[in-house]
Formats: sequence, C-alpha cells, structure tokens
Amino acid sequence: MSFKEKGLLVVLSGPSGVGKGTVCRALRSRGTDLQYSISVTTRAPRAGEQEGVHYFFKSKEAFKKMIEEKKLLEWAEYVGNYYGTPIDYVKQTLDQGQDVILEIEVQGALQVKKNFPEGTFIFLAPPSLSELKNRIQGRGTETLDLIENRLKVAKDEIDMMKYYDYVVENDQVEKACDRIEAIVTAEHCKRER
Ligand code: 5GP
Repeated sequence: MSFKEKGLLVVLSGPSGVGKGTVCRALRSRGTDLQYSISVTTRAPRAGEQEGVHYFFKSKEAFKKMIEEKKLLEWAEYVGNYYGTPIDYVKQTLDQGQDVILEIEVQGALQVKKNFPEGTFIFLAPPSLSELKNRIQGRGTETLDLIENRLKVAKDEIDMMKYYDYVVENDQVEKACDRIEAIVTAEHCKRER
C-alpha cells in the first residue's frame, strides 16, 4: 500500500561551477526517477545549447511578462541575466505523483523555500573555493570578468548553506549522485509513514 500522493520537489542548488548540471546529467543517465524542470532565461545560448532542452531562451520583456503573469515559481537575476522556473510544469508533475528536481542558484532556492517549505533543499558544495575557481575556468565558457563575478557571488552563496536541509559535497560526481538518491529515498520514507 502506498500513501504517496504528490511528488517530492527536490531543489538542488549551490554556486555556479560547483557541478549542478553535471550531477543532474549523471542522475539522468543513471535513470534516477526524477523529472527535470526546464528553466527560462534571458542569457544567450552557449554553443550547443538548444531551445526547450537546456533552457527556454527569452527576451527581458518576455521574461518580465512571465513574472507579471505569475507564471514563475521563482526567479532571480544572476550576473546580469534573469533565470526562472515555469510554475505549471512543476505543479502538474507533482500532482501526477512524480518527483521534480530544480537545478537553480541560491536566491531562487530561498524563494522556493519560502513559498514551498515542504520541498527538499540540497546544497551542492565544492570541496574548496580554489577548486570551484578551477571548475569555472575549466568550463571555458566565460570571460575573465565573468569568472571573477561568478566567484564573488559564489562566496556569498556558500554563506547561505545553513538554510538548506542537506549539504552534499561534490568531490566526485558518482558519490554526489549516491548521496542525492539516498536523500530522496529517505524523504519518501519520512513522508510515507
Ligand atoms: P548558467 O548561466 O551557467 O546556465 O546558469 C547560471 C546559474 O543560474 C546556475 O547557478 C544555474 O543553476 C542557475 N539557474 C538555472 N536555471 C535557474 C532558474 O530557473 N532559477 C534560478 N533561480 N536559477 C537558475
């Protein structure tokens, strides 16, 4: 017998460059039973990024309209661009009893925590700040200025770790995935009593 009705909303957050995207892709390729919300952004697509796969790419005007029309569960301005989570997909998927994972930065995660405290909030932490810098540089998609900006933001974001339910260190991707899967399983056991 299952007491499960609604799905679990898992918020995976942490500083840019910590490997949230890599961890989500690894969870996907393992076949972990999670649905992935696709965000809206005003940032320009990077090489290889596709509309509706990596993001929904919008103009600032179109994004602001979505805010006004309350179509976003959360949104944030991050290093000069807007990012947000479309609310309808999340609601519908949770209502169908499926678990949803959001891969978002810290301001947005804290908004979700305010509006949806029953979510499960996981902070993905880098082994160290110098390792984080290496990872952002290694990605090769940002200019030096942008790297410095992202690092500044990262230091503030790391201070927010205390507001999360769980901290997962991303020392190795597969280990981080194991920990996240264990958290999701534990949260279901907690809810299904
Ligand atoms: P990037 O430009 O590297 O794709 O993303 C920059 C940051 O925005 C990352 O930390 C990423 O997790 C975050 N992000 C992506 N989508 C969303 C979203 O819908 N909402 C918020 N608040 N952050 C997001």
